[in-house]
Amino acid sequence: MSFYDLIQHYRGQNLSEYLYGFTDRDILRVLCKNRLSPEDFLALISPAAAGHLEKMAVKAHELTIRHFGKAIVLFAPMYIANYCVNQCVYCSFNHQNQLERKRLSIEEFQQEAIKISASGIRHILLLTGESRTESSPEYIEEIVTEAKRYFSSITLEICPLSRDEYESLIYSGADGLTIYQEVYDENVYKLMHPFGPKRNYRYRLDTPERACMAGMRTVGIGALLGLGEWRTEAFFTALHAQYLSHKYPDVELSISLPRIRPHTGSFDIPYAIGDREFVQIMLAFRLFLPHVGITISTRERAEFRDNLLGLGVTRMSAGSITAVGGYSNKNGNGQFQVSDGRSVDEVRQMLYQKGYQPVFKDWQYIQEGGRHFAGN
Ligand code: SF4
Repeated sequence: MSFYDLIQHYRGQNLSEYLYGFTDRDILRVLCKNRLSPEDFLALISPAAAGHLEKMAVKAHELTIRHFGKAIVLFAPMYIANYCVNQCVYCSFNHQNQLERKRLSIEEFQQEAIKISASGIRHILLLTGESRTESSPEYIEEIVTEAKRYFSSITLEICPLSRDEYESLIYSGADGLTIYQEVYDENVYKLMHPFGPKRNYRYRLDTPERACMAGMRTVGIGALLGLGEWRTEAFFTALHAQYLSHKYPDVELSISLPRIRPHTGSFDIPYAIGDREFVQIMLAFRLFLPHVGITISTRERAEFRDNLLGLGVTRMSAGSITAVGGYSNKNGNGQFQVSDGRSVDEVRQMLYQKGYQPVFKDWQYIQEGGRHFAGN
């Protein structure tokens, strides 16, 4: 049984109607509980809970400090290729968009790695578009092998692969996978992904589990906020995270809350969400899943990101550039426009000023005699 089978139980149910049935009393009752059920999570993202954000924030703060302390892991994304065979209607790298396509050579990768690692970053997120020919698993393995010279933790955001392929990448040195479902509503998913292998909803949905089975140390999931009705998307994201964390307790799981940003191509966001709704989702995630990491990227504005500190965030990207080769060469189309353009050093200073510890390294890959294991 996979998560796909589990969520069939909720298909056909009118969650929106259910959500409007919660009262203030229900929310206060949920806030007194230590362990929350999926129904309690629904209460926290309901319209009734919108009037209790401050109480939710107090509890979210307590839980975050208890489980993660005042520490924020910093990482940077590096786009190593933008070839893509899919046509996701919300993305610059959509196969139909006219833009310069590029894949970094090993030498170009080294230049980017030198720039990024000079800022102190040791956690790198390597991204590609989805093209098994241009960004093959073998190419990614080569890059990962090289990346170990510069970074202590290597997370991948690439096309979905098989369990065996993930095992090979782990053996090469990758320790994390980020894979967003984009939208959990299967009908909306088909509309957003009209062409290409990404159209296979179930294969994508099962990808985080294949990575867990392969032995990835960290796995990050999320829905691209704006594509589907936000409350149901938040609910299925939370269920997915709970399913994975129960089944694979050794995997360090995290949830991201990416909001759609302007990009090349025209696309009207069907379910744009405001800051209050964003905060409500994040608080509900923290209360429902106290041990799960929460990542906030530079898609969000600097001031907004700073205000989210203490409410559940455990990981932030910094100094991000979303174009292939963009750290060495400022030209080129990014996947989306970054909102928080501060340097790594500026984010580091902000964290210190707010009493937080920026964490650059909390993991080290060690390889001995053909076997590998972790150490600090
Ligand atoms: S979201 Fe990913 S798969 Fe879709 S077009 Fe963009 S790069 Fe390609």
